[in-house]
Amino acid sequence: MAQIHQLSPTLSNQIAAGEVIERPASVVKELVENAIDAQASQIDIQVQEAGIKSIRVRDNGQGIAAEQVTLAFQAHTTSKITTSQDLFQVRTLGFRGEALASIAAVAQVTLTTSSDGAHGTQIKIAGGQQESLVDLAASQGTTVVVADLFYNTPARLKYLKTVNTELNRVIDIVNRLALAHPQIAFTLRTEKKDLLKTSGNGQLQQALAGIYGRKAAQQMVSFKQESADFQVWGYTSLPQETRANRKYISLLVNGRYIVNYQLVQALLAGYGTKLMVGRFPLAVVNIKLDPILVDVNVHPTKREVRFSKESLLAETLTAAIGQGLGQSNLLRSAKAVG
Ligand code: ADP
Ligand code: MG
Repeated sequence: MAQIHQLSPTLSNQIAAGEVIERPASVVKELVENAIDAQASQIDIQVQEAGIKSIRVRDNGQGIAAEQVTLAFQAHTTSKITTSQDLFQVRTLGFRGEALASIAAVAQVTLTTSSDGAHGTQIKIAGGQQESLVDLAASQGTTVVVADLFYNTPARLKYLKTVNTELNRVIDIVNRLALAHPQIAFTLRTEKKDLLKTSGNGQLQQALAGIYGRKAAQQMVSFKQESADFQVWGYTSLPQETRANRKYISLLVNGRYIVNYQLVQALLAGYGTKLMVGRFPLAVVNIKLDPILVDVNVHPTKREVRFSKESLLAETLTAAIGQGLGQSNLLRSAKAVG
């Protein structure tokens, strides 16, 4: 038998990266979530070859202090939680302290940051190895450039789909994050064109218009329901304005985009018999609850969460949708017409 030995940090970060960084869209998600956690009001995302060649995320958030920049790239380093109690009351999107270390293990990363809008720091890391760290003048916030994703893990690179498919995944995640944060102005660009621009004025319907088009956004009805434990609100489309899949449904829990079959069923149940089989609405469902009621530490990418009162939440959502549709003038006028 071979000797037991501890894996090098580079190798263990590469292994960890396998869990969180599957594709360019995962990098975009992690970087944008960091920008959101840093209280940015503007986030600009640019990708080349769907992010396979490069991803650039610029924010105007709090920035990272010069002496912390190296630390941010170590595994399990975070400014977001401290104690195990905190783990059950997570109020930020990040908390695992893994993303930057993971990304830097499988790509060439340049991060430029300033927390005072004048003095900045730039670090370059490739394949987990720090290449340089310099002081420079920089504006407020953080810019991360991730180039040549998976350049040192060819098996991962091979597993990626076509540029088109990867780009669609990037667009999808940015759309959801933008819907979750209408108070933040988002832009998404490729080397060829502008794909998204939201105003950041805090109006969910405007963010919807920026993403699904003005017409679709105007056709959606608002809903809102409050109970002792939950606040549920958002926009959902009329039964005659549907799509063939669930992709246009975004569930947002305390600003985090999640996937949850039960809650989608609860949303559909709110339509009663009004939806045709196999048709799904466009919807943005915001759920606000005490973080103690949701365990976000279930999955490395945090796409799935565990609710402690899921049935109650589902009932609240069904009621909210039913009420929103029932009160809608749009629905009444649509009924009168057809
Ligand atoms: P996590 O988000 O789970 O804390 P990350 O590896 O994504 O872990 O980031 C590590 C730390 O680096 C964060 O806790 C935060 O303090 C800092 N950081 C990362 N990105 C940014 C950013 N865009 N703006 C400000 N600070 C950032
Ligand atoms: Mg993070």
